[in-house]
Amino acid sequence: MPVGQDYYQVLGLARGASGDEIKSAYRKLARQYHPDVNPDNPEAEERFKEISEAYSVLSDPEKRQRYDAFGPAGVNGGGGGGFSRQYGGGGAGGDAFDTLFDLFFEAAGGRGGGTAAQPRGGLDGQDLRTDIYLSLEEVMTGVERTVEVMRQAPCETCDGSGAKPGTIAETCSKCRGMGQVRQTQSTFLGSFSSVRPCPNCHGEGTVIPHPCPDCNGSGRQRKKEEMTVEIPAGVESGMQIRLAGDGDAGARGGRDGDLYLVLHVRPHERFERRGADLICEWELTFPQAALGTTAEIPTFGETVSHKIPPGTQNGTPFTLKGHGLPKLQGRGTGDLHIVTKIVTPTHLGEEQRQLYELLARVESGEMARENGKAPEREAEHLGLFDRIKDFLSGG
Ligand SMILES: [Zn+2]
Ligand SMILES: [Zn+2]
Repeated sequence: MPVGQDYYQVLGLARGASGDEIKSAYRKLARQYHPDVNPDNPEAEERFKEISEAYSVLSDPEKRQRYDAFGPAGVNGGGGGGFSRQYGGGGAGGDAFDTLFDLFFEAAGGRGGGTAAQPRGGLDGQDLRTDIYLSLEEVMTGVERTVEVMRQAPCETCDGSGAKPGTIAETCSKCRGMGQVRQTQSTFLGSFSSVRPCPNCHGEGTVIPHPCPDCNGSGRQRKKEEMTVEIPAGVESGMQIRLAGDGDAGARGGRDGDLYLVLHVRPHERFERRGADLICEWELTFPQAALGTTAEIPTFGETVSHKIPPGTQNGTPFTLKGHGLPKLQGRGTGDLHIVTKIVTPTHLGEEQRQLYELLARVESGEMARENGKAPEREAEHLGLFDRIKDFLSGG
């Protein structure tokens, strides 16, 4: 990062920005400048590094406090732990997102291993989970949802430090900031030394001489928060979206928990779903099945036409390529399958009745006989029962 560049400026924020403002500014910029979105663009990569660096300091209440007090010197190799994260580097972990995919979305199973935090004190935030119910229409288009989450948020009074405003945490005098103490025990077999967390600072390396009155020094407050999240098109039931750092806030340098949104797609009254494919039943009347017709199928936001050829039987499938659901991450679109269902009328109007009676007479050969002609296509129209009779009598 160029000398003199301010972390707040990098994220486009004022100095008093809240933890959530920092997070959302970071997300927005990271999506914009992520190397995956800007391949072979060294400027964007440089910018992305700056953004990640600024975020990793400002999102950590302890580092932020040092930065606010001492500037970059307070966080670069200075105080306990220091700051060493580089984008694409040795997997130091931390709070920043590793891939663009992480920024938006993560399939079930969490992010897996490989992100072990650097040892540091404080209290880690819990991961939280909330369920989101979606309609198939929303899966089709993707949707923006506002979720309400009860979470441990950084205390606004002390900005998560736990220290009364105007005071700061002090290095623990017992362990001199190490967070652990060595204890030597003498036994008749010799002396043994063991290392254990410092009892004075509970392993944090710092103590708060003047606790914040609003959170009693915990640095956190339970709060109901609203978050807006974009759910991409094509998601399926059981998938999860991870919002890194939106779980319970860590306190005094601990890691923030993540928020997992577990998705559920409600069944649709007309369409059945198989992956990105949609299946629906398509009803045909007798004349439509016999004469052929054009099916006008209303899907989500469009009506799709498909020719049904004459002589279509019950249960015939037709596939309409590319009229299913979008696949995740723009990997194409599924198909729409319709399966015919021929519907027998239950109530006939007078005109219909006459026409069906006429048809029945034609099909039975009665009409032809009346007109002195041979019955038309009689054999084809023999019922199943008649055919079995013919078969049994050897005809
Ligand atoms: Zn507080
Ligand atoms: Zn200590």
